[in-house]
Amino acid sequence: MKIICIGRNYIDHAKEMKSPVPKKPVFFMKPETALLTKNRPFYYPPFSKEIHYEVELVFKITRNGKHIRKEFADSYYKEVGLGIDFTARDLQRECKEKGLPWEIAKAFTDSAPVSEIFPVTKLKDKDNIHFHLEKNGKIVQQGVSSDMIFNMEDIISYVSQFVMLRMGDLVFTGTPVGVGPVKIGDSLVGFIEDKEMFNFEVK
Ligand code: MG
Repeated sequence: MKIICIGRNYIDHAKEMKSPVPKKPVFFMKPETALLTKNRPFYYPPFSKEIHYEVELVFKITRNGKHIRKEFADSYYKEVGLGIDFTARDLQRECKEKGLPWEIAKAFTDSAPVSEIFPVTKLKDKDNIHFHLEKNGKIVQQGVSSDMIFNMEDIISYVSQFVMLRMGDLVFTGTPVGVGPVKIGDSLVGFIEDKEMFNFEVK
């Protein structure tokens, strides 16, 4: 199982990062050991002084496939959840400046908390999913999937040209504007529509 993450998939977030709006999806991966489930606490790692939250819709891949054509891509996912793409922003900045890979900033242990996953058919409109993140009871990020530059069909067809998708893989679809730091003691609660998806603490 692997975790595929899309970067800069919301225009306002690309702007806040002072990054260009991409013409093709930008992706990177996190290993299975990044996964943190069941509202377990996130332990602030010792190698960073600037861990940021990025709340993202997460889709689960339900079929194996490579070179998937866009018109068939929607049969490759049926379930959605909510996750945080924890990022060591200080290390990421250093990697970007030096043109180095991002793994130390993105792929570290427990960097991908993910909620329970549920069928997208439970939602009114799978292309118009509202989600938000509360930090210590205050809304810090909110987004709607219709604002994604690349939708799940674009992502599946693009990524599967390079990396075979397998049943059970997770796709983090990018974060909306409003990313920011966490500190020890913070509580993070995420919602899809009105439904609480996760609720955990930074320790
Ligand atoms: Mg992200």
